[in-house]
Amino acid sequence: MLEIKPISAFNDNYIWLLRQTGGVSAAVVDPGDAAPVIQHLCREGLWLEAILITHKHGDHVGGVRELKRAWPEVVVYGPAGEPIPAVEQALSGGQRITLNGVGAEFLVLDVPGHTEGHIAYYGQDSLFCGDTLFAAGCGRVFSGTHKQLHHSLQLIAALPPETLIYCAHEYTLDNLGFAAWVEPDNPALVQRRQDAEEMRAKNNPTVPSRLDLELLTNPFLRSSEPVVIAAAERYTGGRLQTPDAVFTAIRSWKDREYD
Ligand code: ZN
Ligand code: FE
Repeated sequence: MLEIKPISAFNDNYIWLLRQTGGVSAAVVDPGDAAPVIQHLCREGLWLEAILITHKHGDHVGGVRELKRAWPEVVVYGPAGEPIPAVEQALSGGQRITLNGVGAEFLVLDVPGHTEGHIAYYGQDSLFCGDTLFAAGCGRVFSGTHKQLHHSLQLIAALPPETLIYCAHEYTLDNLGFAAWVEPDNPALVQRRQDAEEMRAKNNPTVPSRLDLELLTNPFLRSSEPVVIAAAERYTGGRLQTPDAVFTAIRSWKDREYD
């Protein structure tokens, strides 16, 4: 069975570690820092087979060089559309990769928007999506466009509802606070906030989350919902004609007034 565990890094990053139960081969997703990964792998007696990178930002790639020094045979996968010197297998949407030792197979999805060439890895009912979709939120638009990010989120929204969303940051409580600005009366959101507060009080991660919960509570997946449209129009003070425009308004609202 595939086991997926978070390794905490920096303040709020999760580096996801993949292995078969009882196996010695491991893969990590977005190792922004090498030290906690090396420490974890050595403690568990694991061998690093693969590194999967979602995008170019330092908090996702900063540890790659040092991990490659420690495990020279490791294969480094990453997006073809971004300048990441350490990437050996450059991937774009539609390609598949097989990690033999880890026993996992992934389909690569193009999910630009946070950055211009961001990719995600989908397989075993799990999605590793970096800074594209967060629990109850989404990444900021840095080097992509709002339209791209919205399109990428809609691509993710169309995956099977039981898909587990492994994002790269513990931003959930903060995101839920903004989600409640958009939809204060959404009962699923009120419940989710309570649940997330309990999890964090016990110092447990709130990630992964399930896609069906995101569809009910994440404002950035809900730009066709009348309540969300109305909230976005209250913010902009004018009619918003398309889901793209609603999404852009909600994302800008969070950037300017909440974060
Ligand atoms: Zn990022
Ligand atoms: Fe990040």
